[in-house]
This record gives sequence, structure tokens and C-alpha cells, in this order.
Amino acid sequence: MTLVAHDAAVDGLDRFRTLVAKQQPTWPDAEALGQAVARLSAAPPLVVPAEADLLTTRLAAAGRGEAFLLQGGDCAETFADAHADRIRNKIRTILQMAVVLTHGASTPVVKMGRMAGQYAKPRSSDEETRDGVTLPAYRGDMVNSHDFSPEARRPDPQKLVEGYEISAATLNVLRAFTTGGSADLRRVHEWNRGFMRNPAYSRYERTADEIDRAIRFMDACGADFDALRTVEMYVSHEALLLDYERALTRVDARSGKAYDTSGHFLWIGERTRDIDGAHVEFLSHVSNPIGVKLGPTTSPGDAIALIEKLNPAGRPGRLTFITRMGSGRIREALPPLVAAVRDHGSPVTWVTDPMHGNTITSDSGYKTRRFDDVLDEVRGFFEVHRAAGTVPGGLHVELTGDDVTEVLGGSEEIDDAGLALRYETLVDPRLNHQQSLEMAFQVAEMLRA
Ligand code: PEP
Ligand code: MN
Repeated sequence: MTLVAHDAAVDGLDRFRTLVAKQQPTWPDAEALGQAVARLSAAPPLVVPAEADLLTTRLAAAGRGEAFLLQGGDCAETFADAHADRIRNKIRTILQMAVVLTHGASTPVVKMGRMAGQYAKPRSSDEETRDGVTLPAYRGDMVNSHDFSPEARRPDPQKLVEGYEISAATLNVLRAFTTGGSADLRRVHEWNRGFMRNPAYSRYERTADEIDRAIRFMDACGADFDALRTVEMYVSHEALLLDYERALTRVDARSGKAYDTSGHFLWIGERTRDIDGAHVEFLSHVSNPIGVKLGPTTSPGDAIALIEKLNPAGRPGRLTFITRMGSGRIREALPPLVAAVRDHGSPVTWVTDPMHGNTITSDSGYKTRRFDDVLDEVRGFFEVHRAAGTVPGGLHVELTGDDVTEVLGGSEEIDDAGLALRYETLVDPRLNHQQSLEMAFQVAEMLRA
């Protein structure tokens, strides 16, 4: 593997610098930024091109209905939470969900964390005011700190380097956990059995029994469970901070193509997907599989323009559209997009993000979501694709492996008063461990329908 750092110029890799880049921090110190970028430009890659290419083939399969993507993790990872146990709980939750979804879909599930780089957040306002004091908004741990003080909120480029290092450590745990035997299918199923022991989830007993029988059947047939001890799992984040993404981009000497080695899969957020903006321009030049979030105001013309700019060669698996419409709007907003893309003909992998269109403020003032709205958006996603003859290819969720109380509902019926018990997210509310598993059981039923 030979990866060349910088200016072995792949045509256009720096053209984004001439365009408007939304949602970038105002770095107070250009020299410090230069040093951080130089350090990252010389740093080893977090992922390599061959992994990104393999993921492209997996996402192509999801786009054809021959696999299903499960992408999940925090809205915003934090440096403080990058402990082994928290990371492991998150991976474990994704693997537990994946077993249930594999059964429902009868196809492989492509497992991907919003992890090892999800440290930068777009914000609706550049500033935040509390009790008459105005400071820069929190933009994620890779930019500034969440505490409300002038020092904490000052963007610090050194945090880009720290984010890279913590991402490397996170990825190291992920690689160890998914290849060291801890992810053995039988063990993961045992964990799901533990979840089922809570009577609140007894309605999922039948699916769990079926999975049990399937595993025993495989065992009886002499299936190679040793081969199932290793799990393929990928990492992804929003490619928001262009200084960071560009500095970690390398040219693969073998193919001459550029890869953003900060993660396997990068996505462009709803707020930065302007066709003439810097984010779309930059990602058009890297060869990773990429995604674009599409909200309810997206027009069919916007979607087609994105396809033509980001995947002109029509490479299957290259482009994923992650729709986040809101449960009340998906059944009207999604059909025209799906129809236009289908008729255009270039392959797109369609994924639902049922979180971001369903954010509300609870009576007690918490930013939250209703579990039922989240599930209803997934149901709408399946309905729309089935009606259009297109493929519902995956699920993108904000979740954590811990027992937080951030989303309303689920069989344990977290209510408004319950939110206060363990509300820990710094940005958007996440499904907790139980709600995540419950969602997997419900989506498995939709997949089978
Ligand atoms: C997110 O995924 O956390 C996010 C900000 O999403 P969107 O760009 O869809 O609003
Ligand atoms: Mn979010």
C-alpha cells in the first residue's frame, strides 16, 4: 500500500477552497490551524482504500436489495466518553440489532458505526446566549468544548489532532472487538436472549425463538461457526470540517485515486448539501462511498443534480441518499424523489434516518423524539419504496449502548418526567440500548412484510 500525502494533485481536490463552506468554525489562530493541518497531513490513515472499496460493493448490494445497511451511533461522540466500555456497548448494540435484522431481511446486514470521527456538528446558530451572555455555539469536541465559558467555547485547532487520535483509539477497540471472538454470533444471540427476559418485550419472543431455531439448525448442519467469529464493521461520520477531511485525504499510488482516510463512509449533512457548495465539491473528488442527507424540502431536481455531480459514472454503491423527512411528511415528500431517481436510472442506495425529522421539545424543555414517530417514519419509508418498486436499503439511527433516557416511549414507556433521569447527550437524543433492540425487532417485522 502506498498512499501519497498531498499535492500529488488529483485534479480538483483543492477546488472546494474557492467555494462557500457552510458551518465551519471561525478558528481564532491561523498559525495553530496550519500546525494542526500539517500534523494531520503527515499522519497515518485511519482506514485504507481497499476497505472503502469493499464497503462500496456492500452498499451496492444494499442498493439492489441483496443486503441491508445498519448505521448507528451517537449524534455527537465526545472525547470524555471514548472509554472501552462505552465503545463496546455501542458496538454490541449494533451487532445485536444486526442479528435480528439479518433474520428479518434474510440478507446480510452491513454494519456501520457513526463512530471514530463523529465529533463535528452543524448548528442552527453560530452563537448561543444564556442569561444575557453570548458565546460561540458548541460545534462538537473536535472544535470546542460544551461548557458555557469563553475559554471552553473558543475553537481550538489542536482539537482536530486530538479528535484524530481518539478516533484511532476508538477504531482500534472496534477492530479488536469485531475480530477477537467477542462478536461470535452465538454470543450475540445470547445477549438478545437476556433482553427478552424482561416481560416488557415478550411480544418479540416469537422472532427470538425463530432465530434460536435457525442457529440450532445451522449448527446441526455443521455450519462453520469459527468463520462467524469475525464480523465486518465500518465507521462513518459527517464530513463537516473540511480542514480535517482534506488533511486526511491521500492519493492511492496504485490507482491514482484520492481517498478520505478519516473513515470508510462520509456523509454530507442536510445543511451543507448545496450543489454549488464546498462540501459537495470536495467529496466529489474522493473515491470513498458517500452519503447525502435529504430533508423534506429536497426537490427531485436537487436529487438528480447531486447524482450527476457525485456519481457521474453511475458506480453502484458510491452514492447513498439518507432521507430524513419526518413521520408526518415522508409519505408525501419521498415519492417524487424516489420516482425521479428511479427514472433517471443511476444507482442510488436509499437509507432512512427516522431521527432528524422527528425532533421535538418536550413540555419539560428537553430536546427529544417519540419512539412511535421514529418507527412510523421507517414504516413510511418501506411503504413508499414498495409502492415505487425501489429498494429500501437501510436504516440510519442515533443510538447508544447505555441506559440513557433521551427518547420518549418504547415498551418501558419513558415519559416526559423520565427524561430527566439520565439525559446525557450534548446534541440530539439517542435511542437507548433497549429502545435500539426493540426497534430492530419492529423493523425486522417490516422487512419480512
Ligand atoms: C446528524 O446526523 O446528526 C445531523 C445533523 O443530521 P442532518 O444533517 O440530517 O440534520
Ligand atoms: Mn443528530
